[in-house]
Amino acid sequence: MTTVGILGGGQLARMLALSGAPLGLRFLVMDTVADACAGQFAPMIVGDWRDERALSEFASKIDVATFDFENVPAESAQWLAERVPVFPSPRALAMAQDRLAEKTLFRELGIPVPPFSAIDSREGLDAALDAIGTPCILKTRRLGYDGKGQFRLKTRSDADAAWDALGGQAQTVGLILEGFVAFEKEVSVVAVRGRDGEFRAWPLTQNWHVDGVLSASLAPAPVSAELEASAVAHARALADALDYVGVFALELFCDNGVLLANELAPRVHNSGHWTIEGSETSQFQNHLRAVLGLPLGATRMVGEACMLNWIGTMPDASAVLAEPGGHWHDYGKEARTGRKVGHATLRADTEAELAQTLARVGKSLDRMAQVQPVIDALKR
Ligand code: ATP
Ligand code: MG
Ligand code: MG
Repeated sequence: MTTVGILGGGQLARMLALSGAPLGLRFLVMDTVADACAGQFAPMIVGDWRDERALSEFASKIDVATFDFENVPAESAQWLAERVPVFPSPRALAMAQDRLAEKTLFRELGIPVPPFSAIDSREGLDAALDAIGTPCILKTRRLGYDGKGQFRLKTRSDADAAWDALGGQAQTVGLILEGFVAFEKEVSVVAVRGRDGEFRAWPLTQNWHVDGVLSASLAPAPVSAELEASAVAHARALADALDYVGVFALELFCDNGVLLANELAPRVHNSGHWTIEGSETSQFQNHLRAVLGLPLGATRMVGEACMLNWIGTMPDASAVLAEPGGHWHDYGKEARTGRKVGHATLRADTEAELAQTLARVGKSLDRMAQVQPVIDALKR
C-alpha cells in the first residue's frame, strides 16, 4: 500500500485524495491548521512547516511527498527531500515561489514576459517607474496568491500609496514592479511531466479573474492552433528546464495575439479543475501518476467544459445538478469572504449547448455577471 504525503490540506489536496482512491492510494496530509478541508478525507498531521518533529513524523509515514500549496518553505521541502522522494523538486518549488526568479527564468528560456524590475527601496520604485511607466502593478515577490500582496498604479501619483501598502515588505518577501498588460485574454496551460520526462498538456484554458481571484475557466480556449502550440511549447521548455515532475500551470496573458507569461504554479491548478469531468484523465489523477512514476493518462477533452468558482459562500446546487452535464464540488469549508469554497463544472457536446447551459445556470443562480463573459467568448 503506497502512501502519498501532501504538504498543505486545502481543496487541492482534497481533490488529489479523492482522485487517488481508485488507484488504491493512501494519503497523509500535513497542514498548519486542524480544520483544513482535505482532513475530511485523509488522516492529517497538524504542525508548522518548520517544525522538525512534525515533518519527521510525516516523512516516516509516507512513500512520496507532494504539495497542494506552493508557499511551503523551500528549506522544509529540501529537508523532507533528504528523507523521502519529493515531487516536484524543492528546486522547482523555490523557483516558482519567487516572482523575480520565475520571470528571469522565463526570459532566459525565450518566453516573453511583461517588463519587470525588482524593487528594494522607495528610490528604487521611482527608478523602476521611470523605466516601466504606468499603468503597472507592484507585487510582493513571495507569498502572494489570489491577487493578494498586489497594488495597481494607474498613474505616478499612486507611488506613495503603493509604497505605503507594500513598502514594508521590501526587505522581507521582496517586491517586483511589473508593467500592466491590457490583455484581451488570460489563458493557462495545465500540463504534466512524468519522472521519465514524458510531457502532456491539456487543451488550453481561458480564464476570467475578478479582483485577482479566478472566477471562470473555459476549455478549450477559443484561440488559434498557432497560439495554443506556442503556449504549450513555452510550458514544455519550462518543465524540461526544471526537470519538473507532476502537474503545473503556466498562466499567460494574450495581448494582440502575443503571449506574455505571468506566473508558474508548481501544483495542480484551479484553472484545471474542469479536467475532472471534462478530460479523459484529470489533472489530479495525472499528478499522482507522475509523482508515482506510473504511465500518464490521455489529456484529451470529453466535450466542452466551463468551470465556475464559488467564492465566499456556496450557492444552491440544484440548478447545476439539474443539468445533464452539471457537476458539483463543495469543498466542505466554512463560508468566508473571498475564500474559494467550491466550484461547478458544466460540460456539453458543443459550444452552443455549453452557452445555453451557462445561461440557464447563470440565470437561476443570479450569476449572469459571472457567466456572461464565457457565453460571449463561446459565441465569438
Ligand atoms: P494566483 O492565485 O493565480 O496564484 P497571484 O496572487 O499569484 O494569483 P497573479 O496571477 O500575478 O497573482 O495576478 C492575479 C491576476 O491579476 C492575474 O490573473 C491577472 O488577472 C491580474 N494581473 C496580474 N499581473 C498583471 C499584469 N502585469 N497586467 C495585467 N493584469 C495582471
Ligand atoms: Mg500565483
Ligand atoms: Mg496567478
